[in-house]
Amino acid sequence: MSFTLAIVGRPNVGKSTLFNRLVGKKLALVDDQPGVTRDLREGDARLGDLRFTVIDSAGLEDVTDDSLQGRMRRLTERAIDMADVCLFVIDARTGVTPTDEVFAEILRRRGVRVILAANKAEGKAGEAGALEAYALGLGEPLRLSAEHGEGFDDLYRRLQPIA
Ligand code: GDP
Ligand code: MG
Repeated sequence: MSFTLAIVGRPNVGKSTLFNRLVGKKLALVDDQPGVTRDLREGDARLGDLRFTVIDSAGLEDVTDDSLQGRMRRLTERAIDMADVCLFVIDARTGVTPTDEVFAEILRRRGVRVILAANKAEGKAGEAGALEAYALGLGEPLRLSAEHGEGFDDLYRRLQPIA
């Protein structure tokens, strides 16, 4: 049986980088600039012997303060509703932000299965942020580095029971 994984989280945490690594192509645009990727993007992912559908939620990068929360919420809820499991990504270098807490609340309320990931966790710079992530109450955070390809064995172990 296959499943659908939605990658959710605030802008710039590395969702598209993660998507690209799982899909193995440059389907999602990755950029330091705001406004590059939009809406929901779907791809066929492979991780070890697992094959699944992955959704990258973007489209938030071009939104400014006032409309951000509503748009973020709607887009995230759409992604959640398509998904069997959500990969909720935070930035281990920044630590948990108030926006991350909003996402955590959306995910908890929706009652969806969540895997929490502290991305950008390569090296020592991510250690404190990864520990902070426990406070989100969504279980043990995976330490990932989408850019450097680290932590994907742990992601595999978390996804295997779902497949
Ligand atoms: P998104 O907005 O959540 O889709 O984030 P992107 O995938 O566009 O990445 C935002 C920035 O974070 C880019 O400059 C990426 O190169 C960088 N980034 C993504 N993953 C990692 C990582 O594992 N480590 C580090 N240090 N940077 C990363
Ligand atoms: Mg993106």
